[in-house]
Amino acid sequence: MNSEWKSVGNGHLEGPIPIPDLDPSKLTITLTKSPKAIPAPETLIFGGVMSDHMLVASFDPVSGWSAPEIKPYGPFTLDPASSCFQYATNTFEGMKAYIGPDGAPRLFRPAKNMARLARSAERLALPKFIGRQPFNPDALLELIKKLVVIDQRWIPNIEGYSLYIRPTIIGTRSALGVSASDHALLYVILSPTGPYFRTGPKPISLLAAAENVRAWPGGTGSHKVAGNYAPGFLPQRIAAKQGYDQILWLLRDENEWKVTEAGAMNVFVVVDREDGDFDLITPPLDGTILPGVTRDSILAIAKAHTTGKLTLPGLSPTRCLHPHERAFAISDLDRWLSEGKLREMFAVGTAAVVAPVGRVGFQDDLKKLARDLVLPSYEAGMGPVSRGVRQMIVDIQEGKFEWDGWCGSFNERLTLREHGNASNWLGRFST
Ligand SMILES: *Cc1c(COP(=O)(O)O)cnc(C)c1O
Repeated sequence: MNSEWKSVGNGHLEGPIPIPDLDPSKLTITLTKSPKAIPAPETLIFGGVMSDHMLVASFDPVSGWSAPEIKPYGPFTLDPASSCFQYATNTFEGMKAYIGPDGAPRLFRPAKNMARLARSAERLALPKFIGRQPFNPDALLELIKKLVVIDQRWIPNIEGYSLYIRPTIIGTRSALGVSASDHALLYVILSPTGPYFRTGPKPISLLAAAENVRAWPGGTGSHKVAGNYAPGFLPQRIAAKQGYDQILWLLRDENEWKVTEAGAMNVFVVVDREDGDFDLITPPLDGTILPGVTRDSILAIAKAHTTGKLTLPGLSPTRCLHPHERAFAISDLDRWLSEGKLREMFAVGTAAVVAPVGRVGFQDDLKKLARDLVLPSYEAGMGPVSRGVRQMIVDIQEGKFEWDGWCGSFNERLTLREHGNASNWLGRFST
């Protein structure tokens, strides 16, 4: 049957018979015989320790998606000529599982991550069914839930802690021709993680480096593709040497330096308005900005605060937050500061949730601006808006506040067919 399938280029396939998509009903589970000891929470370093199991499925242009497997975490064997090693046909996601008050795991808006992964894979011309997505996003989400349930003991049940989930797709075509990969490997690994700020929020410093650009119009900045990240490591190291925590990525527009993102996080500023309310401004999704789930969530809850649908902790319901997706430049930051209007600046993403910004240095052609832009400082390390949105997001994630079905709990049943001993095994560890 498979000979009727033909490649139409760029790893895309066309044919009369539906090629097998990712199918959770074909899942096989092999549990580890030697479960690892879970490290003490206070010793966790972001992404440093992996859980016991991983999810793996591979795509072949003839046989489609393989039966997905959950199996013990471990290395892969790959051909050295694999597309992923040579041409960065790699894409990934970052999401988290939390334990709610009901003791069940929950995921925060996971459909957004699935859709973004499919978009990123498409951008890299990874194998795709014509007229469809590279994989069925609902199927992948169902499989991730099963993996999370199996490794549930790895979700620290402590406020501010969670299980970081890293879905990844890599191109595995083993040939050096510079073209799309028609083979792919999909895998999901899990890593327990603690709060970004262990000893309470501490404002971060950013170096706005004009000569290094993260993303540009027509580029891949709005996709979570691996090739976007490696080129940022050298500028990051140079910034660290000068005493800054992260890079503030800029984009030149006429004579302005537009602010885009900070490190691998989206940015927001809080600016005073004439009417006593606040403007909450983040750069628009113009193709250079990664469409963050945290960014989108903050825009939505700011709007909900202003329309009275919820009240952000610590903020008066009468102090409205007006969300805007609007470009701003270094010169705007400078002007707002000198006018005393710039209240807060913060960076947002799944890993940190909200990181307050305390100081911004600007460097143009290795000449440094004489002084750094210094944001107002707050006793508790975070301004009231940063604090309020952060607390609301965390409360929704940890199931303390239900909002719009964003963070539903689940307890996927593992059927006997999948693994006869899975429930016994789970029973041993799910305390
Ligand atoms: C992942 C990422 C973000 C944050 O996205 P979230 O979905 O909120 O985690 C922001 N910017 C970049 C460049 C990223 O890679």
